Amino acid sequence: MEATIIDGKEIAARVKADVADSVSTLKKRGVVPCLAVILVGNNPASVSYVSGKRKALCEAGMEDRSIELPESTTEQELLGIIEKLNNDSSVHGILVQLPLPPHISEKAVTDAISPAKDVDGFHPVNVGKLVSGEKGFLPCTPNGITVLLKKTGIETDGKNVVVVGRSNIVGKPMALLMLRKEFNATVTICHTGTKNLADFTRRADILIVASGRPNTVTADMIKPGAAVIDVGVNRIPDSSRKSGFRLCGDVDFEGAKKVAGFITPVPGGVGPMTIAMLIFNTLESARQTLGGK
Ligand code: NAP
Repeated sequence: MEATIIDGKEIAARVKADVADSVSTLKKRGVVPCLAVILVGNNPASVSYVSGKRKALCEAGMEDRSIELPESTTEQELLGIIEKLNNDSSVHGILVQLPLPPHISEKAVTDAISPAKDVDGFHPVNVGKLVSGEKGFLPCTPNGITVLLKKTGIETDGKNVVVVGRSNIVGKPMALLMLRKEFNATVTICHTGTKNLADFTRRADILIVASGRPNTVTADMIKPGAAVIDVGVNRIPDSSRKSGFRLCGDVDFEGAKKVAGFITPVPGGVGPMTIAMLIFNTLESARQTLGGK
């Protein structure tokens, strides 16, 4: 039997509809959730991600205070813009689309965003809260994956979760979330230093792959019936497409779906959840301005 395909688009649509309802309620109390998405330069993937985020903001009834800057923008200029947004009480969230041009330090920019408006959850204060289990903004992609698992009814308690990849934005926070008592999984993190990757992936009840390389995981590396979450987004040249490329994940989808119990497609799996959790975090930030009232 083939795997059940986890429809991230449909689950994200439900999350977004709930957020839109809460936005209407908040507006009646005089608060309009507002996010500033800052894009520097015109990296095609970044342009596409930013336009998806802005569309979702608009659909949720939020205010879009986005700023597009030329590639030549200096670090000082960008930090100045962030400082203004930090001090603007009508802005609830600030997101700087990564990667930045090489002359701008991503760390300096991430650190400059007020932790109270860091809806991406990348600021060291929010990372620290994630590690210690305190309430803070959770990074959108890993948090979106926890929602996908919950809404699909995939049990994590006592399960073996294997995460392939240890980046600060996906692998590490994903592993930390699964380690929380709330999810209660036994977690293994793999990376390029892992010897015999398949020995680890085959033990996974839930396999989360964020390597950024197509075919990192193939059918023979999956335990029959496992839930496979493919985070990867890779652009493969494809002359038959108008865009000149097609998207694929980090897992060999066609092979994997014959072995797995559940699998996320690319596109249409994890990606839509990332955007849904971004508008969720923006809503939460706006709610906090009411001080729990
Ligand atoms: P990244 O910073 O490049 O990190 C990739 C990680 O995978 C690294 O830790 C690397 O190990 C590990 N890795 C690479 N090849 C491996 C292999 N063959 N075996 C084991 N480990 C391997 O990437 P990222 O930012 O985490 O993103 C991962 C993928 O997810 C990308 O395709 C990205 O586009 C996608 N993504 C999607 C979303 C979404 O919303 N759908 C959001 C974010 C990212 P080392 O540390 O040893 O180098």
